[in-house]
Amino acid sequence: MKLNEKQQNLLRMLPGTDHVLEYAKTEPFFEEIPRSLLVRSVRSVVEDFRTAILNGDQDMTEESLSYHRVVEKVKGHVRNAMAPNLRRVVNAAGVVVHTNLGRSLLSADAIENLQTIAGRYSNLEFDLDMGKRGSRYNCVEDILCEISGAEAGMVVNNNAGAVLLCLETIARGKKVIVSRGELVEIGGSFRIPDVMAKSGAVLKEVGTTNRTHLRDYEMAIDEDTGLLLKVHTSNYSVVGFTANITLKELVTLGAKHRVPVMEDLGSGTFIDFSKYGMIKEPTVQEAAATGADIVTFSGDKLLGGPQAGIILGKKDAVAEIRQNPMNRALRIDKLTLAALESTLRLYRDPEKAVEAIPTLRMLTCSFRSVEKKAEQLRDMLKDLNDSRLSMELLNLPSRVGGGALPLHELPSRCVGVRVEGISVNAVERAMRGNTPPVIGRIEEDFFIMDPRTIETDEIPIIRAAFDNMLKHRHQI
Ligand SMILES: *Cc1c(COP(=O)(O)O)cnc(C)c1O
Repeated sequence: MKLNEKQQNLLRMLPGTDHVLEYAKTEPFFEEIPRSLLVRSVRSVVEDFRTAILNGDQDMTEESLSYHRVVEKVKGHVRNAMAPNLRRVVNAAGVVVHTNLGRSLLSADAIENLQTIAGRYSNLEFDLDMGKRGSRYNCVEDILCEISGAEAGMVVNNNAGAVLLCLETIARGKKVIVSRGELVEIGGSFRIPDVMAKSGAVLKEVGTTNRTHLRDYEMAIDEDTGLLLKVHTSNYSVVGFTANITLKELVTLGAKHRVPVMEDLGSGTFIDFSKYGMIKEPTVQEAAATGADIVTFSGDKLLGGPQAGIILGKKDAVAEIRQNPMNRALRIDKLTLAALESTLRLYRDPEKAVEAIPTLRMLTCSFRSVEKKAEQLRDMLKDLNDSRLSMELLNLPSRVGGGALPLHELPSRCVGVRVEGISVNAVERAMRGNTPPVIGRIEEDFFIMDPRTIETDEIPIIRAAFDNMLKHRHQI
């Protein structure tokens, strides 16, 4: 590569690593910084400058290569490296159970209990009445049975684990009958046929994609059949000319042929969403009331708790699952258990649960209160008094997310922002690069923020992010 005179000159001016390190010694900022990290950061920054010069980056000037400027960059680098990689973000995307952004937020009660249990010893596996070893599931089994009406219950790491564990326990080496309309793939490569294969059970598909009848199941039952399985098609919907049997019908069929019945509910909710003007999702209570041997669902989808896989059902079936050595590999951790127990307790009073559990609060939030927040956000941005900014309020739907209620659109009022002289892609990037990152979406030439998933105390954060972007326009 042929370098021009300006580039050669800049390369000569570029401070060496040792000199920058010497200079940095005089800065109090670096006193507490581990030497190895400092050296790594200085090398990386100097290398970035060199690359920019070689690429003919127009921002590279003599001025930008001063010790002071280089050390400022190193500080930024060090700050980044000291901060955790897993960090909070502002979810302005309007997807409530956003799998990429952490799915569910915990209620204040759950956070408080989690904090106590995290920093103190607990009776995790200690029976305080008997003064001897106890079971880690005891603390949630009672409340699970109380709010669901199931005979017995236990919890594992996540619902994928729950499904695998149940299949392995009940149906290894046997046939499992599933409708062709329910051979679900959810995100992260969890596919019913694959999980089935891993569990050692043999998949027996029946019916068709759009229509499966009771007789399809009945005709497939033979002496090798170990389980009748229903899978909630959480993230898609078969509409039009369809037929599907209910869990209740399947339970009756199972009883007739002495074959156990299980349903993977996917999301699983204790709340009847149709009461809030949303599409009806089968509730956990309804599933348990059918008398199904096993029902499984997630802790962090519509339930609004921590990541967990909840297994409910008949005493014998749950006891058998608990004995499975695989259970140990899928064991739920105590922090999860603490958060889950507190979340479940809130469901004793469903109206309180809807207020206290962020996922439910956001889902059931009225259009008017979302609109109010949108107006607040717009006004805060107006306050920046920058003529380049223009805001519009737009009626765009929020989504439930988490592979739940795929057809359901929650009417919402969003703030669309355009910035003169900055492309919408650059705005999106700048917001994503903020501390904390603000995650919105792009529609046409608008940067869209949906207030449904934004807490009121996050509005000033967004304002500061825009302020910062407008001030540092040249770095975008
Ligand atoms: C989400 C989902 C799972 C997996 O649950 P995780 O808690 O994410 O492991 C399994 N089955 C169905 C139908 C689902 O929707």
